[in-house]
Amino acid sequence: MLRLRNVKTYYGTIQALRDVTIEVAQGEIITLIGANGAGKTTTLMSISGLTPPRQGEIFFMDEPIQMLSPEKIVALGISQVPEGRRIFPQLTVRENLEMGAFLRRDRAAILQDLDYVFSLFPVLAERQRQAGGTLSGGEQQMLAISRALMARPRLLLLDEPSLGLAPLVVRQIFAIIRRINKEQGTTIFLVEQNANLALHVAQRGYVMENGRIVLADTAANLLANEAVKKAYLGI
Ligand code: ATP
Repeated sequence: MLRLRNVKTYYGTIQALRDVTIEVAQGEIITLIGANGAGKTTTLMSISGLTPPRQGEIFFMDEPIQMLSPEKIVALGISQVPEGRRIFPQLTVRENLEMGAFLRRDRAAILQDLDYVFSLFPVLAERQRQAGGTLSGGEQQMLAISRALMARPRLLLLDEPSLGLAPLVVRQIFAIIRRINKEQGTTIFLVEQNANLALHVAQRGYVMENGRIVLADTAANLLANEAVKKAYLGI
């Protein structure tokens, strides 16, 4: 479904991604793990067109997308949930969700999707008329995921969904991520610093260091890998 081939992304003269090659099959949950500053967020931003690569190729459903605008990429079926949530704090919960569907014109289907995200996260239904900024951190993460789902993505890019949240809330959110993958068949590309958690949800994983992919394997093999255990699992 998604293929990155030798992607090189820069911030000015700083090279953040060095020949990144990643493949994601339809229906998979894959994770990209790595330390702070390894290039995980930059990988997602390269895919979503917010920080386009300077060299290399990105294919989505066999179509090259590395030159497309972020709007076109969303329209093709890729939605990103940014790190730190980035919901619209002044808008209500409902308006935030409607923003997620701004490229769509299929009103009836939009209403169905609204019902679906409310069934995933009933607390959002209760707080529809409340400003997004008044929600707790966990609820804002739920809103950010729901807003991305309102675009009906085929591929969902999640950037550190566990960041700053209490363990119980993290468990709840990860259970829903699994459910979205199962029920909707949505492919999930998960970036996480919490490698242990990520490798228990994903089927496969990539490990990134200094802008390079240094390991790619099944999640089970990565969990058993001595170098991964030492560097990322604290075992
Ligand atoms: P984190 O977990 O802290 O978000 P990350 O693995 O997602 O880390 P990136 O945010 O992708 O890493 O950063 C990769 C590299 O690019 C780092 O060296 C970072 O300092 C640099 N970088 C990121 N954003 C910018 C920017 N806007 N301008 C300049 N350099 C940047």
